[in-house]
Amino acid sequence: MKNVLHAKCVRCGRTYEAIPTLTTCQCGGILDIVYDYEHIKTVLTRETLARRRDNSMWRYRELLPVEEETEAPPLRVGWSPLYRARALAERLGLRALYIKDDGINPTASLKDRASAMAVAKAREAGARVIACSSTGNAASSLAGNAAAAGMETYIFVPSRAPKGKVAQLMTFGATVVSVQGSYEETFELSRQAIGRWGWYNRNAAVNPYLSEGKKTVGLEILEQLDWQVPDFIAISVGDGCTIAGLWKGLKDLYALGWIDRLPRLISVQAAGCCPINRAIESGEDWRPMEENTLADSIAVGVPRNADKALQAIRESRGLTVNVSDEEIMAAQKLLGRTSGVFGEPAGVTGTAGVKKLCEQGKIPPDASVVSVVTGSGLKDVANAIAACPEPISIPGDMASLLEAFAARGISAYSNLSNR
Ligand SMILES: *Cc1c(COP(=O)(O)O)cnc(C)c1O
Ligand SMILES: [Zn+2]
Repeated sequence: MKNVLHAKCVRCGRTYEAIPTLTTCQCGGILDIVYDYEHIKTVLTRETLARRRDNSMWRYRELLPVEEETEAPPLRVGWSPLYRARALAERLGLRALYIKDDGINPTASLKDRASAMAVAKAREAGARVIACSSTGNAASSLAGNAAAAGMETYIFVPSRAPKGKVAQLMTFGATVVSVQGSYEETFELSRQAIGRWGWYNRNAAVNPYLSEGKKTVGLEILEQLDWQVPDFIAISVGDGCTIAGLWKGLKDLYALGWIDRLPRLISVQAAGCCPINRAIESGEDWRPMEENTLADSIAVGVPRNADKALQAIRESRGLTVNVSDEEIMAAQKLLGRTSGVFGEPAGVTGTAGVKKLCEQGKIPPDASVVSVVTGSGLKDVANAIAACPEPISIPGDMASLLEAFAARGISAYSNLSNR
């Protein structure tokens, strides 16, 4: 790879050659891929990018750690829409708010960006089998992306994973191990199994290439904003790989001189499981917490990528905010009503955080803010249905409809009177 120099441990600084099967440092620290930006500047400019027709994460190939001859995996991942959310901005008293809807990815979460990278690197490694442990989305996205590429998967999920995600796994033909225990125990079992059978490892806190896939969300946001840097980017945090990846993408653009300043990150966690934010707020090391939230994708009591996440939040002079399950579900409805975007609970946690910080006056009204929706609401309809009112349920005749409208005080608006 001409664009990559090496991989470097974020804890001890030791460097490694960037082979496809890289895992963690000897010291246990997580590795970070280091690029040759001077070389990249000679092969990629904002203008070349603007002419590119590839509307997927692979449009940033020169900034990704793959060999030139490595084919992009089959599913179309990335280049998700960035919506200007005017109605929601008005509700929150914000000058500019954008929603990056990553729920539209092929398996309906941002995790597809990492899984596509895993499939590309597994191919380079000559592997036929990939494995991971996951709260759900990493699993379903790996299963889908691997299926499309003709690879086999072994997946470890905690038994609490919502049905939508399990349905995806089974449909994509993964071998699924549902662990009767916490995510922590699930991760540990997958670690042992991967060691035992030598599967390609798609655990984002072990395999340093996966954050590089996730960073494309940051590259896209800036390209879609025509390189106008927003003041804040809010995102939900579990293991910490996603926020770290987002930050890496932004720093890449800064290193290339394509942007002249960096946004501040907003790290949003569930109040019932917020070890990363607690570490930032207390200035101490992170400590494990219980996994006490319905936002299953970020119910991570022992964050596996705390080092990179904490570094990203601190470097960006980021804000932290913790939101209750009620605030998450309220944000899900508010986003749906004002923007037509349906996110899963962890998917809208970032938006819940933006709302809370606006109300607390911690985001100034003249700020521009991007909120990343990290997963689709269709993944977990049970929680959404429980948080919403019942629909009008009646027999199929007009008399029943008129009666039901009358009972609810609905005077139906007629478009006919406008003609
Ligand atoms: C995985 C996930 C996150 C958090 O990503 P981490 O890398 O675990 O911090 C947030 N939202 C959704 C929908 C996810 O699947
Ligand atoms: Zn190290």
